[in-house]
Amino acid sequence: MERLYSPWRSQYIEEFDKQEGCFLCNAYKSQDDEKNLVLYRGKKCFIIMNLYPYNAGHVMVCPNNHVGDFTSLDEETLCELSKLTQLSIKAIKEALKPDGFNLGFNLGRAAGAGLEEHIHNHVVPRWIGDTNFMPVIGEVKVISQDLKEIYKKIKAALKKIEKGEGDG
Ligand SMILES: [Zn+2]
Repeated sequence: MERLYSPWRSQYIEEFDKQEGCFLCNAYKSQDDEKNLVLYRGKKCFIIMNLYPYNAGHVMVCPNNHVGDFTSLDEETLCELSKLTQLSIKAIKEALKPDGFNLGFNLGRAAGAGLEEHIHNHVVPRWIGDTNFMPVIGEVKVISQDLKEIYKKIKAALKKIEKGEGDG
């Protein structure tokens, strides 16, 4: 996926680009979920917003452990990856009302993985017509909603679902 420009990126994202090591591990180890845009923590996996969203509300589901080999995941981790992917879809549906989703892993650099050492499942909400203007502006796409604002919306939806009030 191409990296996309959005005004919020300028300062906030540069801070993340400068950090040492794996940003997923750093986010997992940190206590500051809002700063790192961590949406949900499970037993084996967690959900985090993508800093380079393909679309508004683009999140990633990844194991807590720094694992690069999908085939080496234990059953419990695999199961929770799927469960948290399902939970992400429910929360994004609730928060942003998309028309569809793209899901998937990029395994290995040849497949376009930006961070091949720590696997992550992309959950990308889609809206009818959201690709139509892409050719017009080339590879640049402006995400109209602020990343933090979307983070708060999805997090609120997750809490609602956990309480059993979600209609997702
Ligand atoms: Zn990692």
